[in-house]
Amino acid sequence: MIPEQVPRVAVIGGGAAGFFGAIACAEIANGQMDISIFEMGSNFLTKVKISGGGRCNVTNGLENTFDFSEHYPRGKRELIGPLSRWSQEDTVWWFRENGVELKTESDGRIFPVTDSSQTVIDCLTGVAKKKGIEAKNNCCVNRIDKSDEGSFRIWINDQDDPIEADYLLVATGGIRSAQSRNLLESMGHEFTSPVPSLFTFEIEDNRLTELSGLSVPSASVVIGHLGMKSVGPLLITHWGLSGPVILKLSALGARELEQLNYDFKIMVNWLGEEWKSKQLSQRIESERNLNGPRKIMKRSPIKEIPNRLWKRIVSKAEVTDDQTWSELTKQATLRIINSLIAEEFKVSGKSLNKSEFVTCGGVLLRDLDLRTMESRSVENLFFAGEVMDIDGLTGGFNFQSAWTTGRIAGEEIAQRCFSQT
Ligand SMILES: Cc1cc2nc3c(=O)[nH]c(=O)nc-3n(C[C@H](O)[C@H](O)[C@H](O)COP(=O)(O)OP(=O)(O)OC[C@H]3O[C@@H](n4cnc5c(N)ncnc54)[C@H](O)[C@@H]3O)c2cc1C
Repeated sequence: MIPEQVPRVAVIGGGAAGFFGAIACAEIANGQMDISIFEMGSNFLTKVKISGGGRCNVTNGLENTFDFSEHYPRGKRELIGPLSRWSQEDTVWWFRENGVELKTESDGRIFPVTDSSQTVIDCLTGVAKKKGIEAKNNCCVNRIDKSDEGSFRIWINDQDDPIEADYLLVATGGIRSAQSRNLLESMGHEFTSPVPSLFTFEIEDNRLTELSGLSVPSASVVIGHLGMKSVGPLLITHWGLSGPVILKLSALGARELEQLNYDFKIMVNWLGEEWKSKQLSQRIESERNLNGPRKIMKRSPIKEIPNRLWKRIVSKAEVTDDQTWSELTKQATLRIINSLIAEEFKVSGKSLNKSEFVTCGGVLLRDLDLRTMESRSVENLFFAGEVMDIDGLTGGFNFQSAWTTGRIAGEEIAQRCFSQT
């Protein structure tokens, strides 16, 4: 039972940041605060549920804070301090303490050992309940203001009478809806305009259609006129290109690409960064000497790229089906090299990445004190999660930002409250 007249905390948004913030607050308050989460949907933690293809990529194993913060196109510099206070190690520790065993995959992504996001949901809702947090669904916050006495008045589901709270944590997620933006405006907070991040590139090109489903272990992709480059695994899909290398570029260029209406050119080096034209020419020459008249070119690819891609590239270089390596002409060699390290494609649109997408844009970071996540203009108003102008690359970085900012805001609210009583 919570004693009467205890400080009241309202958390708006029942997602990762809202739950983690409310729990952090409750862990310190130890029953001496009245903490409620208001969620407009009928379910809590819906994004956690669908995250990581239903497995929930909770965080990333990268240990160095500076390296970790490099994975945020927006928030890179600002997150260094917060991540030093609540790091990925703290997240892993917290989930283990609360019964969720985690595992790190070879690429650094961390998942629950159950491979089920429901484990994370059960943990967060279970801990919240144990700590006396009241999580209320179907409660859409439409309006907020501050009374003369300094408490917040919160209107839910357009009801006439507002509820009141002494501290407010806004964790409403990406600000793509007009309603979320109105709420921020009503509190006098500015935001950068929202655009999607983490999308795949739509490309209509026969050179790719025939390779649908193929993955290339390490390719480099350049958007020349924006001076952007990314290296990593590349996936060819039936609508274009995807995979970590593309998702990273989509995040780095989220604003610029939206301004181009997702109509731009990319240059693909199928071999990654390692091969330059001269080296490759020597490499092909040695392959030619090695294979000579015995091996058919189309059936004996260089080992760095998948067979199907090699076949397509040599066909385009006008190498015939029965041509052997010793019959390779100088011109065909040049064409092959060019296709391998500098193949141009025209992107004509974007598709949201099914396994993860986030909003680029949110509450201006300069208007927040990132040591506490408190608004610089409204006392006792805090923010956490994707509602802030912070977004990360794929790999668990977006949830880590939600855990970190939620944790710091929740702790600060409880500490502030007890230091004032
Ligand atoms: C398909 C998909 C997969 C993803 N997978 C991963 C992953 O594996 N790893 C990773 O790190 N990131 C992943 N992400 C990103 C990650 O889910 C988000 O960055 C994260 O959920 C942000 O947490 P949040 O609490 O700030 O916002 P949200 O999770 O969006 O929660 C905000 C909540 O606030 C509620 N709300 C909004 N407005 C109001 C209002 N006015 N009143 C009441 N409630 C309101 C919303 O209904 C929502 O439930 C994925 C995203 C998607 C879409």
